[in-house]
Amino acid sequence: MADIPIPEIVSEINVKHQFPEFKGKVIKRGDVDYDAQSYQYASSSHLEEGIIQPAAIIKAADDSDVIKAIKYARENKIAVAVRTGGHQYSGASSTSGKNIQLDLSQTYKDFDWDDENCTSVTLGISFPLGEFNAKLREKNRFVPHGQCQYVNLGGHIQTGGYGQLARSFGLFSDHVKKFRIITADGQVRWVSQGEDLFFAVLGGSPGNFGVLTHATLHVFRDQDYPNSRGLRAAYPYNRQRLKDLLDVMIEMVEDENFPADYDYCITVLSEPPFKTFEITYDMAHRKEGQQMVAWPPMIVVFAQWANLQGDKQTYNPDFFNKIKKVAGKGLVQVSDKEHTPMSTLTGHWIVPISREFELPYIKRTYSSNSNSQRLKEHRWTDWISDRIEDGSNWNYDQTSGPIDVGCNIAAQFQHFGGTNSRFNQNGKRNSTSFSWRDANILCTVDAFYHSYQYEQTIEWQKGNDEGVGKPESTFCEHDRRVLWGSYDLDLSASQQYYYDQNPKGKYERLCKIKQKYDPSGVFTPNRFCIGLPVPVPADSKDGMKKRTKLSGSETAKERAAAIELTKVPQLSAEDRFWEMASTERELGKTVPLWNIWRA
Ligand SMILES: Cc1cc2nc3c(=O)[nH]c(=O)nc-3n(C[C@H](O)[C@H](O)[C@H](O)COP(=O)(O)OP(=O)(O)OC[C@H]3O[C@@H](n4cnc5c(N)ncnc54)[C@H](O)[C@@H]3O)c2cc1C
Repeated sequence: MADIPIPEIVSEINVKHQFPEFKGKVIKRGDVDYDAQSYQYASSSHLEEGIIQPAAIIKAADDSDVIKAIKYARENKIAVAVRTGGHQYSGASSTSGKNIQLDLSQTYKDFDWDDENCTSVTLGISFPLGEFNAKLREKNRFVPHGQCQYVNLGGHIQTGGYGQLARSFGLFSDHVKKFRIITADGQVRWVSQGEDLFFAVLGGSPGNFGVLTHATLHVFRDQDYPNSRGLRAAYPYNRQRLKDLLDVMIEMVEDENFPADYDYCITVLSEPPFKTFEITYDMAHRKEGQQMVAWPPMIVVFAQWANLQGDKQTYNPDFFNKIKKVAGKGLVQVSDKEHTPMSTLTGHWIVPISREFELPYIKRTYSSNSNSQRLKEHRWTDWISDRIEDGSNWNYDQTSGPIDVGCNIAAQFQHFGGTNSRFNQNGKRNSTSFSWRDANILCTVDAFYHSYQYEQTIEWQKGNDEGVGKPESTFCEHDRRVLWGSYDLDLSASQQYYYDQNPKGKYERLCKIKQKYDPSGVFTPNRFCIGLPVPVPADSKDGMKKRTKLSGSETAKERAAAIELTKVPQLSAEDRFWEMASTERELGKTVPLWNIWRA
């Protein structure tokens, strides 16, 4: 069993001025609960970099705590990282050295409808998506948003809110009317469309312009979409099924005028058929009461018809039937056979877990504007299906066992494009700075690994990188990344991948806005920030020790143990899916996801 790495103990913060008193709780590096309080989604993946070790975490009680923290940072020439839900993949909502972290997970929870008709709401940013969605659903209202129950609005507003309603309604952030922010000078501002901060905060670089506290949103009504339909179904994973479902997506891309009503997303989730006994860092930080979820190798299909023209429009089931035909036998949890209100559907699209696997990950998100002809010529659906097969390595040879033990995979493919797509159309307004709004398909391939799989996982992701960035690349000739799904640690160094030229000079304009509102870099707490190189306010190496992964011999031991396990005869992927499908929920036991997946 691996040791849980222990962070270095530093008894107090070594800064010039006395640390101020805050109304909210303050946890300093070295305090007993520091490890638990500094833990966030990216912690285990970036242990080595030592970038998630703030000198202190301030659980702000209200505006006055936020303003005090900003003032303290300014006076001491240190930086502030802002964290609400802690789901930033590169760990950018944390910091290190003498820098401090503002934790807003409980700070701004007010929620007020702006009109009797409930078409506009003003709310605090400390809502996880699951809670936010449920609040709107109470009034049969919805907005488009992402799929993770525990992502919070604080970051989500700034990184877009890419989700299952992207073609039909655009991004979550497209529906922000105004927001409230506290800037580095300690001023509280309401910012509306047309202002430079509106452009910069929505899409520019999360957490780098100030502390977001509230937003006013335009909200949609179920009654305007009286015949909306959705499909959520799980199927046993196999390569051919994945390829066939992806081919349906390519047909969709082929029809440039495909109606905006349709959204279609394919998710692949797979963990190897055997469990190793390595206690991971993430397991040690599972919150009390959080479900342990098991994934048989499966493909989950999400499809939706939004009925954008209301009761004048007739539902045509052909598209859904095509998906169901190629998918074959599966577990249908949401059926298109009957109308489901949009607010209920948006709840069904949320995955009710905090992380896919309790393991560190190596992430990739690629955005492609290739048209169907190019994707077909390069046989992308074959190529990516082979990549997934190779990475998960499920169909190993039963007699000799696999050469390499497959890692746990969470992959997702979604169509965003076409002339009617609201994702595409809203992007032309230029009131926000989100890049790559001409995307046709977004593809996420996240590999979660046990420590003995680290090297092979890196190699696997290198293979996936071959799919982008060159004229001959299968998925896209350009390498286009998105801030919500980042996988770099240095944003300035990789700016050309994250920022397009729409409008021209976008990155430079964002840097100017940053200079104007945050000239001393209070909100530059790490390298995943816009406008570097600028002097990083704190010496990020001060008072820090790198946490390490398993040593070489421990890794070899874990790997050998895993390979031994593969020699025990296993069920096929298909049989395991159906075996787990019949497992009943039992308190305290690992459950298949669908047993807890209800809106
Ligand atoms: C498992 C998982 C699933 C996801 N699924 C989706 C999805 O379906 N669609 C999608 O679009 N995205 C998705 N994301 C990405 C997620 O939406 C973004 O990372 C989002 O920014 C996270 O917000 P947060 O507040 O939870 O995280 P945090 O880590 O707290 O913040 C994210 C960023 O925003 C900044 N920030 C946070 N709060 C504030 C604030 N109040 N003021 C100023 N800056 C702030 C932080 O400094 C950081 O840079 C997913 C992420 C994970 C880990």
